[in-house]
Amino acid sequence: MNDQHRDACSASPPKDSLPLVGQEDRRTGLSVDALKRAVLDKLVYSQARFPAVATRRDCFQALAQAVRDRLLQRWVQTARTYREQGSRTVCYMSAEFLIGPQLGNNLINLGIHDNARQALQELGLDLDVLLDQEEEPGLGNGGLGRLAACYLDSLATLEIPAIGYGIRYEFGIFTQAIRDGCQVELTDKWLRSGSPWLIHRPNIAFDIKLGGHTERQYDVRGSRRLRVQWVPSKLVRGTAWDMPVLGYGVNTPNRLRLWSAEAPEEFDFAAFNAGNYDEAVNAQISSETITKVLYPNDETEAGQILRLEQQYFFVSCSLQDMIRLQLQREPNLDRFNEKFVVQLNDTHPSIAVAELMRLLVDEFAMEWDPAWAITSRTFAYTNHTLLPEALEKWRLPLFQRVLPRHFEIICEINERFLDDVRIHFPGDDARLRRMSLIDEDGPRYVRMAHLAVAGSFAVNGVAALHTELLKSDVLKDFHEMWPEKFSNKTNGVTPRRFVLLANPAMSKLITETIGSGWPTDMERLRELEPHADDAGFREAWRGIKTHNKNNLVHEIKRVAHVDVDPASMFDVQVKRIHEYKRQHLNLLHVVSLYKRLKDNPNLAVAPRTVIFGGKAAPGYFMAKLMIRLVIAVADVIARDPAMRGKLQVVFFPNYNVKNAHLIFPGSDLSEQISLAGKEASGTGNMKFQMNGALTIGTLDGANVEIREQVGDDNFFLFGMNTPEVKELRNRGYRPRTYYETNPHLREVIDLIASGFFTKGDREVFRPLIEHLLDHDEYMLMADFQSYIDCQARVSEAYLDPERWSRMSVLNVARSGFFSSDRAIREYCDEIWKVKPVRIELTELSADDMKFTRATAGVR
Ligand SMILES: *Cc1c(COP(=O)(O)O)cnc(C)c1O
Repeated sequence: MNDQHRDACSASPPKDSLPLVGQEDRRTGLSVDALKRAVLDKLVYSQARFPAVATRRDCFQALAQAVRDRLLQRWVQTARTYREQGSRTVCYMSAEFLIGPQLGNNLINLGIHDNARQALQELGLDLDVLLDQEEEPGLGNGGLGRLAACYLDSLATLEIPAIGYGIRYEFGIFTQAIRDGCQVELTDKWLRSGSPWLIHRPNIAFDIKLGGHTERQYDVRGSRRLRVQWVPSKLVRGTAWDMPVLGYGVNTPNRLRLWSAEAPEEFDFAAFNAGNYDEAVNAQISSETITKVLYPNDETEAGQILRLEQQYFFVSCSLQDMIRLQLQREPNLDRFNEKFVVQLNDTHPSIAVAELMRLLVDEFAMEWDPAWAITSRTFAYTNHTLLPEALEKWRLPLFQRVLPRHFEIICEINERFLDDVRIHFPGDDARLRRMSLIDEDGPRYVRMAHLAVAGSFAVNGVAALHTELLKSDVLKDFHEMWPEKFSNKTNGVTPRRFVLLANPAMSKLITETIGSGWPTDMERLRELEPHADDAGFREAWRGIKTHNKNNLVHEIKRVAHVDVDPASMFDVQVKRIHEYKRQHLNLLHVVSLYKRLKDNPNLAVAPRTVIFGGKAAPGYFMAKLMIRLVIAVADVIARDPAMRGKLQVVFFPNYNVKNAHLIFPGSDLSEQISLAGKEASGTGNMKFQMNGALTIGTLDGANVEIREQVGDDNFFLFGMNTPEVKELRNRGYRPRTYYETNPHLREVIDLIASGFFTKGDREVFRPLIEHLLDHDEYMLMADFQSYIDCQARVSEAYLDPERWSRMSVLNVARSGFFSSDRAIREYCDEIWKVKPVRIELTELSADDMKFTRATAGVR
């Protein structure tokens, strides 16, 4: 891979990397001319439109299809190479892939962003307008789903054979709108006009059983082996939809394979005696609902049958698909775990442990022990949360009703596992109870995290602090039994999407300064460090930030209908709205600043625009109230002439990957203010850093490592650390004490409680205020003063532009560690044991164009 090829800022890829198929083929050519012809061709022959009547949407589709052709050329080569080499493959199983719009990213990764822009310009079209047409595929809630998407980008860029397995939700995460100061949820119809990136594979389909009961019979072959037969009450057919995910500057498009539920074919109904016809029809309708909608919650919604069905559905389809692939190249499944490794993205797919056992033992007649040897060498598990309420567990009756056979298998796994525990820790019954896969204290539950740990050969946390807390707290017993299973893999984000694509101006300056290799070798950004001391460079740097802020100003005007001042500090908190993330602490600072500015109009503080964005789970009352508070405070401040040029608050609606492209580059200050010990890692924090925002944050998640990388002087630290939080809690935390003893805090709380922001209505925010004074689970009261003091230091730094931009340059220069390439290399070397497979782009040979005898109909 050469640097030139990877340079997205260069006008055209080097000649020798052009594909050899034909001469600037309409399907594969990368030149301006070839792209022009391709877009017109697609417009006429795929969209059935001619330019004079084409809409922007038509033109987007035509360009996307032209790009897709170029992906498919590489895809065919990749599939062939993997098949020939029998490569070990990483399967990344995730209930969410928040992939974001694809067109811009594909242009960048193909190295034809600039050529496409020029081609369109010559056709009288504007690339940015077309990029804006793409719907966001909202197949995830937030960080967890976005991580899966960043990892697919890095896997392909590092040329690792990989498949992402997930769910093709018909309705992704809801679209957030604001009405009367409150969040309302609108359905996300991202497939309304089809996705140009999804390729349906109706012939790759599996029947998935649900419900019913199990029966036992002696093996037909007359052996004494009892075979279990699962007689389901419902069948669902899963079919594959593939999306190519191209790496940057390489010829590897990996496969994101999403499963969609359909009604099974009729003959399948006869097979399980559905009974009468009406019932069968109803079962058909309900089977299609399985992949209808994404659960709009970061955490688990306890006891949702449909969610368990979703999880099982996509996991079973995926494992059956892997088995199919394995049997294409080997006569049996004995080496399954050598050819596949499965990463479980949180507990959502952890039913895979029981399902692979079921497939091997029940469907492929394997004995338990060899089946377990394969299973326990196949899976690796990533934990994503320390919040106890988010640890997934299923009530036993519900679980048994949906997956009766899996319940039996889990009991068997548990028996053997607890035997193991007994040998490790003789006589420790309390430990057995704590570690059991079944929670038997009170109503019984299946503990999915325990199943995942027991069934995996590796377990990892997602930031150094988080992994330590896993080992010492949530999974302590497991760590004591299997210390060698545990490791840390600090999250990362892809610099292709979040820097090259989102921040072309900064990317261009960086490339001019240090060359073009940095997007795949982010440690090279360190070469920017000396330039932090160059006044001319800093000025250029500030100019770019202003440019990016102006872009954001435009977007804020468009979506929130307010004018903001690009000279003010853009103080930004975008992420899911949740009490642990403490958007309301940010608001307490806003109200504090408001009060102080009212009391002292000459207060010397930096002018600020405080921008919030993020969705609240529809059923999460307190989070929705937090949004209301943001908007209520924003309204009052907007109407107060005394605040003009000093303070402004904006709620940016419908935060998603698409608008994140504008938000990160346009930010000055990144708010990462969760209570220490609550945020597993965070990845928004990394995207801000890579775009030159400075962080105000607690010692939580990856903030700890960001601070280590950038140095104490370039990070605004406040608040308690994890031991302090623990100690305070043990001492007996009494939030009201802070209110009683800190007069300024009292002023701030009282102002909100007085109804000042709600036209005198004291009821609206009462639940929030009372919660803070009486419970305050996330200890805002305890961290308040430290946060206010730290914000004063932020303000002082911002008033010195030379100092601020120096810090900003250093933050970017030291962000290399947070590239998802680094994270994926660690997974590859330490967990997956996989090597890159280089894909050469060669002309398709005559052999490639031969059909099999079966296809040709030769008997
Ligand atoms: C990165 C990202 C997140 C995760 O943000 P955190 O601050 O880590 O919670 C959520 N949503 C979107 C759209 C993102 O791009």
